[in-house]
Amino acid sequence: MPMTSWVQVAKDSDFTIYNLPFGIFQSKRLSPRIGIAIGDKIVDLSVLHEEGFFTELSQLPHDVFLKDALNDFIALGKSVTRKVREIVQGLLREENESLKEHQCRGKALVNLKEATMLMPVKVGDYTDFYSSMEHATNVGMMFRDPENALLPNWKHMPVGYHGRASSIIPSGIPIHRPKGQYKDPNMENPDFGPSRRLDFELELAFITGRPTKMGESISTKDAEDFIFGFVLFNDWSARDIQAWEYVPLGPFLGKNFASSISPWVVPIEALEPFRVNGPKQEPEVLPYLQCIKDHAFDIHLEVFIQPDGLKPTKVCTSNFKFMYWNIAQQLAHHTVNGCNINVGDMMASGTISGLTQDSYGSMLELAWKGTKPLQLEEGGERKFINDGDTVIMKGYAEKGGVRVGFGEVASKVLSAKE
Ligand code: MN
Repeated sequence: MPMTSWVQVAKDSDFTIYNLPFGIFQSKRLSPRIGIAIGDKIVDLSVLHEEGFFTELSQLPHDVFLKDALNDFIALGKSVTRKVREIVQGLLREENESLKEHQCRGKALVNLKEATMLMPVKVGDYTDFYSSMEHATNVGMMFRDPENALLPNWKHMPVGYHGRASSIIPSGIPIHRPKGQYKDPNMENPDFGPSRRLDFELELAFITGRPTKMGESISTKDAEDFIFGFVLFNDWSARDIQAWEYVPLGPFLGKNFASSISPWVVPIEALEPFRVNGPKQEPEVLPYLQCIKDHAFDIHLEVFIQPDGLKPTKVCTSNFKFMYWNIAQQLAHHTVNGCNINVGDMMASGTISGLTQDSYGSMLELAWKGTKPLQLEEGGERKFINDGDTVIMKGYAEKGGVRVGFGEVASKVLSAKE
């Protein structure tokens, strides 16, 4: 029997009763707090708690939902967070009248469009992987050797680097074009100025929900117990700054000026129906990276560019299932040396590119290093991102009438600060 809700949910809504993502919202009247999205409403969990809907969870602190980040709630563990989601799912079901007919209903349901979404978690540490073979191959072909595009280590470990947490921002907040040093191959000396090759990277990120102690490692088998949920992740990149700075220590100022995320955290439980097997890994990986179950998810992804005041054009259609390295392998590799993780760490997938030219997850690849500009429906052509452009990423999974989506991450690029 399919589940339906007494809250109206449009057919193409990402926020169905099967999803129930967590986020932090505020409004003119309401201080920051934890909500769950359904249709075009937000369920204010603090109201449900106050009215005694969570009494079976005796360990829930009284102010647990009146927080400006999900960290403390997530830290209560999956047994609690899952139960909260289950209770809310029960209350929202068509046949359940306990909230529907309750006097607090008007207070408990807030209109999404009256709310401002904030950062869902305080991100302690941010790691960016490089787990799409198609992306790594494309970049290798452009910048190194077309014959040996993948570096020798790539098929043996999920390559990654430590990014910067301070500049991760929620959807809707504009960014300024970064400035920095660059030196193109044809330049004799480096120059300084606004980046001329500002790019997006289409990624998904998972948020960790359980800490480890230094010295401990997480196995691929246990990895998902440490993962709370996922957000869309636009890993902004300044390609000209990156190309000049990255040798020998890797990404730095070309990457750390901003990353934008979708504000609703889709719990990993909601993605269960969309679990699929990932690409076959050849050569066989080392034992600590081997998996006994599938850890890939069939999530449809799209990127749009919208020039100022004009129509958006879809420039990329990709899928999370293309990733060569999965989330369990990423977390196992990250901790195999004893590196500890905390609640609220963010681990991004790396640019998600597919095999076809319209599935590449960055402008660098879509316009092939500027040699094949993309024609927009309105606003001319693009090799990279212009000032005034808004980059919009969307993602959803759909199967057998069940839809679970992420909403979007949309961010506008402003000119470089004086
Ligand atoms: Mn990235």
